[in-house]
Amino acid sequence: MAQYVNHDQKFGATEAIYYPGIAKGVALTIRHFVVNMWFHLMKALRIKARPGAITIQYPDQRRVLPAALRIRHRIKLNEDGRLRCTACMLCETACPDNCIYIVPMESPEEVPEEKMPAIFEIDLARCCFCGMCVEACPMDAIHMDTGIAEMASDSRENLVLDLESLLKPGPIVCTGPAFRGKEILELLPHLKDVRAMEHQTQPEGSIYRVGKTNR
Ligand code: SF4
Ligand code: SF4
Repeated sequence: MAQYVNHDQKFGATEAIYYPGIAKGVALTIRHFVVNMWFHLMKALRIKARPGAITIQYPDQRRVLPAALRIRHRIKLNEDGRLRCTACMLCETACPDNCIYIVPMESPEEVPEEKMPAIFEIDLARCCFCGMCVEACPMDAIHMDTGIAEMASDSRENLVLDLESLLKPGPIVCTGPAFRGKEILELLPHLKDVRAMEHQTQPEGSIYRVGKTNR
């Protein structure tokens, strides 16, 4: 629902001196603190009550994502290490956002599949994470189960996943001026501990901590 700011609103004397507003905010914070403490105390005493609010200390703590969540894509290999994708273009055709770009090429002679992708790109900036590409793939080659939710970047180019990053999913790279040439893992070292598929081994709704201390 749209909300509009009334720029012509005149403030009264109490708003003009701010202090009543500050006191109101502090009172609200204290009320939430006391109410939460009460529910946590009830839980500690094993008395049935609604659960108190829990603050997740992201990024040190993460909520375990649902196993069925469609998230950053990956391309699978066969058991013998061959690319599963045969560049059939079905995912590209099924994609409603036109964000998949494939250029096929002839496979080498020793490979039984006729074709393989020379270029396989997915533009995450356009993707609506509908999962149609996964459904369309006859080779079970494309999956959206990496559990990697960090997909922000400071440039649209970095949101285009190429074949290499689809085969080895990791955090999105940021290269803009704000990063001044630093590696993303240098700035956000916790990301290297995000392990693909981790969400499938933990109960949904629980929280896990990333970092060596919890291994
Ligand atoms: S999830 Fe949907 S929008 Fe994204 S690449 Fe696949 S088909 Fe296209
Ligand atoms: S990922 Fe699947 S649907 Fe897409 S081109 Fe490769 S084999 Fe075809």
